[in-house]
Amino acid sequence: MPAPTALLSRLRLVQEAWRRYRDVPSLERFVELAVGVNSFAEFLRHSQATALCHAAHELEQAVLALFDPGVAHPLPETAMTELARHLAALTAQVEAQVKAAAGRPERRQGLTSGDVPAAAPQDWLIGHASERWCALMEQLAHFGSPLRFLRWDDDLPETGASLLLVDLRSLPLPEWRARLAQLRASQPGSRILCLEVRSDFEELHAALAGGADHCLLEGTPLYVLVERILELRQREEPEAGRVLIVEDSRTAGELIRRTLAENAIACEIVQDPRETLPALRRFNPDLVLMDMYMPGCTGVELSRMIRQHPQFLSVPIVYLSAETNVALQVDAMRLGGDHFLTKPFNPVFLNALVRTQIERYRAMRRTMHHDSLTGLLNHTSGKSTLEVLLANLPAEKTGLSVVMLDIDHFKQVNDRYGHPVGDQVIRSLSWLLRQRLRRSDLLCRYGGEEFLIALPHTTPQQAFTIMDRIREDFARVRHPYRDSFFQTTASGGIAGFPTYETADALIQAADEALYEAKRSGRNRLVLA
Ligand code: GH3
Ligand code: MG
Ligand code: MG
Ligand code: MG
Repeated sequence: MPAPTALLSRLRLVQEAWRRYRDVPSLERFVELAVGVNSFAEFLRHSQATALCHAAHELEQAVLALFDPGVAHPLPETAMTELARHLAALTAQVEAQVKAAAGRPERRQGLTSGDVPAAAPQDWLIGHASERWCALMEQLAHFGSPLRFLRWDDDLPETGASLLLVDLRSLPLPEWRARLAQLRASQPGSRILCLEVRSDFEELHAALAGGADHCLLEGTPLYVLVERILELRQREEPEAGRVLIVEDSRTAGELIRRTLAENAIACEIVQDPRETLPALRRFNPDLVLMDMYMPGCTGVELSRMIRQHPQFLSVPIVYLSAETNVALQVDAMRLGGDHFLTKPFNPVFLNALVRTQIERYRAMRRTMHHDSLTGLLNHTSGKSTLEVLLANLPAEKTGLSVVMLDIDHFKQVNDRYGHPVGDQVIRSLSWLLRQRLRRSDLLCRYGGEEFLIALPHTTPQQAFTIMDRIREDFARVRHPYRDSFFQTTASGGIAGFPTYETADALIQAADEALYEAKRSGRNRLVLA
């Protein structure tokens, strides 16, 4: 949820742009308004503020509909009234949200390693008590996401929930329709997840149109529920996008930079094509905006040069050009460009295109670098990330600890309960690690039931304390099996930089310590 101050200041920018347009109703000021609205809507889309997002989207659509060469300025009176109405609706939503947030404690984002998980539940489950919900709440509490249980006839707590789970099975359809609408209206800033929804048109439509953000269908296994809820809770602010602009005209480059900055996208401009490769290496952009005509080489030639480097094979390239020759555009795309934007470009379109391209590129990279069972870094990326971490340790050498963690007697888990249950145990350890460690810590599924962890700025002794608490808590997790539960343990070995200097040496030392932990009885940690 965005901070109330950030929400308000962004809303003020939109209001200010609207005021400026009303003072001087020129096309230029209308473009400013459009960019402002678009940037606010994008901000909300990434902030999980559903109802706000909807209101901003309505305003954005109304503005974009007027973004047409056929529309003259000042706008006709009816259009002005329409825009004012949408802006008022959005303002009311933002103010309701800010009011609801007042008094609610800020949720701690990444728990730092030594911290105990936040205890006060900020997520609610509304429904009828059942064994399924008891089991769900127990699991979520293990992984640091406790729920507060409310019956349909309970009063809602004073402060809003960030995630609201709604059990629809417990009420007849017309009734839950009304309750859902009420909840949606009173909790504009919450994400609503409907549980036990039947996969039938009436019911799904009623839930989604009634304000649910997500639905989980009837019969969804418990672990999928847990995983989905943890994922929704953990979704972090996306990292700002990075765009490399290759453009010989300084004015054109600055114009693009300014437009993208409205959407919190960081840009670096290269004017001399020769500087492109060094800039790619240094800046590691998510997208290249490439001018078509530059002195000394064309955009297509430069793209071909970029594509000769395996690490830049998939970075998206979007051409910018006044060129309207379709044949040339097709040629450009064949040679490794992904899109064509003709100048003068519509700033809202530029923003939208850049955003989608960045998201796609990042999603693709995620599947390449992450393990599909746990979502953690995979073996190869884990090792290379450790190398990068070591290379970038500051000169004062505050240290770094590496941990190898391995589940005990895991073959028996598979033998007794089956491979899918074994997978679930691996997942649960990854959930626990993710929930307890910092965002800056490295978390990797190194092998089957083996994890590689690196904690920067942490001595082996500190790492021991942090990991030992995780080890204890993992041993307490009750893994559901049929009508019962089982428990399992893990062992680990810890080694520290600078005692061990390279990634290989650290991993080997931690691995030897792990072996020692296994040999001396398991369910324990050993320092190298
Ligand atoms: P120890 O306490 O010594 O670690 O005993 P262990 O039984 O855990 O021994 P080991 O680490 O050698 O065994 C790992 C087992 O994990 C072997 C393999 O069948 C199983 N395994 C590997 N990857 C997966 C996976 O993705 N899912 C499941 N369910 N099992 C896996
Ligand atoms: Mg040029
Ligand atoms: Mg094992
Ligand atoms: Mg193993």
